[in-house]
Amino acid sequence: MSFDVTVLGSSGSHTGPGRACSGYLVRADGAQLLVDCGNGSSANLQRVTRPEDLDAILITHRHVDHCVDLIGMFYALRFHPSGPQPIELYAALEVVDTLTGLLSHDSALEFREVFHVTEVTGGDRFDVGPMHVELADAIHPVPTVSCRVEVDGVSLVYSSDSAGGPALVELARGADLFLCEATWQGDGEGYPDGMHLTAREAGRIATEAGAHRLVLTHVLGSLDRNRSLAEAQETFSGDLALADDLRSWLLI
Ligand SMILES: [Zn+2]
Ligand SMILES: [Zn+2]
Repeated sequence: MSFDVTVLGSSGSHTGPGRACSGYLVRADGAQLLVDCGNGSSANLQRVTRPEDLDAILITHRHVDHCVDLIGMFYALRFHPSGPQPIELYAALEVVDTLTGLLSHDSALEFREVFHVTEVTGGDRFDVGPMHVELADAIHPVPTVSCRVEVDGVSLVYSSDSAGGPALVELARGADLFLCEATWQGDGEGYPDGMHLTAREAGRIATEAGAHRLVLTHVLGSLDRNRSLAEAQETFSGDLALADDLRSWLLI
């Protein structure tokens, strides 16, 4: 049994220098689940695997830094040299309408032929190969899900974009690896409520949840990430790292 995650895009809200927006390839025993497909991340995906070899895609919400590269993936799968390559797509509410709104009428119809869409919300569960996926609603301005992926009792939790709250702590309970957004720094002053976490807040949630390892991701593209790391160390004393594009973590 193997279980690993590769970061395809670690930059928050907008791309950073050489850094793509949100995307994570989660693999277990040959099954491949792509979680989020933000701007730039599909280029990194193709350094690791082929789009047609994915078993399923989960898009956590409709913000472009988490979903817009699915348009390019649509063309790659629709016009594949071997013919159209359909794939399962689990998408939070409003994702598919947002993306098809960027396409012509005909392409929008074909989008639903290439992507076999299941709309998902907090509490939903599905399996991809040996991976058991559980979703929880996140606090964010649009419908958003956080996810927990378990293989043989080993767990990876991804916050997606979230302002935290008890549901995220519960989802991350005892996580072997907690991939948590840390968009902002300092005390969050000057930033809107109900949208994102600071690095200290991410550390606090990881501590409260008893997560074994915390990986900070989605740091705003223009910020100094080392400051985020230092601030998270103030509130989390366990194994801590920064997500980097194309960096992988082995869970099993
Ligand atoms: Zn985002
Ligand atoms: Zn967002």
